[in-house]
Amino acid sequence: MNMKLEDLGWDGVFMAHFERFHEEGLAPGRIAREERDLYGVYWQGGEVMAEVSGKMRHDAGSRSDLPAVGDWVAMHVRPGEGRGTIHAVLPRKSSFSRKEAGVHTEEQIAAANIDTVFLVTGLDRDFNLRRIERYLTLVWDCGASPVIVLNKADLCADVAARVEQVEAIAFGVPIHAVSAVTGGGVEALRLRLSRGKTAALLGSSGVGKSTLINALLGAERQAVRDVRASDGRGRHTTTRRELILLPGGGALIDNPGMRELQMWTDEDGLSGTFADVEEIAAQCRFRNCKHQSEPGCAVRQAIAAGALDAGRLRGYQKLQRELRHLERKQSEKARLAEKAKWKKIAQQARKTNKYGTEARY
Ligand code: GDP
Ligand code: ZN
Repeated sequence: MNMKLEDLGWDGVFMAHFERFHEEGLAPGRIAREERDLYGVYWQGGEVMAEVSGKMRHDAGSRSDLPAVGDWVAMHVRPGEGRGTIHAVLPRKSSFSRKEAGVHTEEQIAAANIDTVFLVTGLDRDFNLRRIERYLTLVWDCGASPVIVLNKADLCADVAARVEQVEAIAFGVPIHAVSAVTGGGVEALRLRLSRGKTAALLGSSGVGKSTLINALLGAERQAVRDVRASDGRGRHTTTRRELILLPGGGALIDNPGMRELQMWTDEDGLSGTFADVEEIAAQCRFRNCKHQSEPGCAVRQAIAAGALDAGRLRGYQKLQRELRHLERKQSEKARLAEKAKWKKIAQQARKTNKYGTEARY
């Protein structure tokens, strides 16, 4: 089976990055799924199962240096075996990362090279402007363009009013009200999945992401899911691609990593979403104003005057608290790593001394 790299999202930027690998006789491919240490990779010749070269694994400073779904890689392909070896990951256009569950806060790439993110919210009781703000922050921070999808329009009495509320917090972001169940508005949304572009869905559990993907893909989805792929040993397994190729030439990423995505962001992203709050806060008398009871607080004045919604300030402060928490966890992790390093050095030094002493006898 032949594949057009352009349909997979290949462009001039990736091509330029790839040049030196081309000279080494490697082929470009895009990660479609990940299974333990094996990757399903789309390339010109269809799909191969590939592993990371020993050197690349050894040189990787952290997990984010290894391939993730959506990544473009340079690989050596053995077409006869349906196998390949990955030697490098091309620089990412955008990347979505999450902190690992539990105590670690090591960055882990959930998906890479996404152009458009459909931010899905339900127009039922789930509707929450603050949450939309937080997701917007995340998308901007990751280098992708957001499209806000207000799903379950069939359950909402006044869709226009909701759209207006969202417009007020999402300056210039496209907004689509749809119903994944009745299909209303889905066609217009489908037009945003364009050739050579990669989209992904982001939103809380239960907002209708799966239903929407099915509505967007129609019967395709099932067909995609049921494709049987052969692995190198000739065994046949039913596989589920996390990078789904669309009939029109675009791609959609739907994987557990994106579904579990948690806040992994920084101050830049925060400023993007709360530009209005920050602009007002710049006029507070004290630079470190917490906007609580400080004198000369421009933010509280703006709220009292009705120029700023109190909910915006709460959303801003909540996000700041979460960022502080994440920061503390990260510095705690760095402190422990430093401690472990010195412990090792001290042990090494003791060992050397001992041998040194023994050698003299
Ligand atoms: P996910 O967790 O985001 O993937 O959400 P699901 O796609 O599993 O949907 C959660 C529930 O919402 C299911 O019971 C769906 O049938 C329902 N649902 C999804 N989209 C719509 C919609 O547009 N209208 C209504 N009324 N229900 C929907
Ligand atoms: Zn203030």
